[in-house]
Amino acid sequence: MAAGIRKDLARRVAKLAEYRHATPGLAVILVGDDPASQIYVRNKEKAAAEVGVRSGVYRLPATATQDQVLATIRELNADAAIHGILVQSPVPRHLSFEALVAAIDPAKDVDGFHPINLGRLVRGQPCTVACTPKGVMTMLRRYGIDPSGKHAVVVGRSTVVGKPMSLLLLEADATVTVCHRYTEDLAHHTRQADILVVAVGRPGLITADMVKPGAAVIDVGITRVEGGIAGDVDFAAVREVAGWITPVPGGVGPMTVAMLMENAIEAAERHYHYAPAG
Ligand code: NAP
Repeated sequence: MAAGIRKDLARRVAKLAEYRHATPGLAVILVGDDPASQIYVRNKEKAAAEVGVRSGVYRLPATATQDQVLATIRELNADAAIHGILVQSPVPRHLSFEALVAAIDPAKDVDGFHPINLGRLVRGQPCTVACTPKGVMTMLRRYGIDPSGKHAVVVGRSTVVGKPMSLLLLEADATVTVCHRYTEDLAHHTRQADILVVAVGRPGLITADMVKPGAAVIDVGITRVEGGIAGDVDFAAVREVAGWITPVPGGVGPMTVAMLMENAIEAAERHYHYAPAG
């Protein structure tokens, strides 16, 4: 599905070039040398190249000050050839990720983390939606799984995944339960889910006895383990119970990157007042 979306996005980029003689520009700010971040950034560059988005990585040393990173953000805000900006997380501990995100022009906030975009999401207004939850909603839509009237259970309540995910499901008329570290009897809640989205970062958290037969199970978790990465769901056992299940690796991850490209292209289309057909 992600590959199909990337193909569609490449066509949108070509249309923007044809009608506005413009190319979407994406800036990725990478502070420090966290090895996982290097891989994420490389994946983003690869996807950008594939769809025709011009991407640039702005590398700052781990010792960079908040003011130095803010200065880079301000330069990129003012650069008319840059339509999307993101700060790769995590940033070194002496920096405030929230303050950096808040300094990004909301129109260029392709991660959808800016308070203005999150506020608009809460109000049900048009906004840039965080890539991972947007990818999950896209998957549900494309597989014909309509959340309306269904019980959706989201495990995890982060600003990056859990909270925007639950708001999007609510907006799609699901009845939403949000679980977290302090939830008593997690299995009691997950067993009621028609749609179960798990974003925790604990491999094996969700076992087959915690899943309603026929449920759509979406595993957002990514944890580095020996020999690769693992999700939060016991895939081999849960697939026997679930109606739908996403694998890790290969499920939500590639969709997230595809949605980042979509957000960057949408930002460029808005900038050039170009509305793609359909
Ligand atoms: P996070 O900020 O650490 O949030 C984790 C959430 O899980 C918190 O809300 C926490 O509850 C909750 N939690 C922890 N232990 C729990 C338990 N035993 N039972 C129920 N809830 C529990 O992480 P995140 O940024 O949301 O990411 C979650 C996972 O998704 C990570 O593995 C991350 O790598 C992955 N991820 C994947 C993608 C992708 O593209 N596939 C994108 C983003 C993140 P409290 O709030 O009470 O602490």
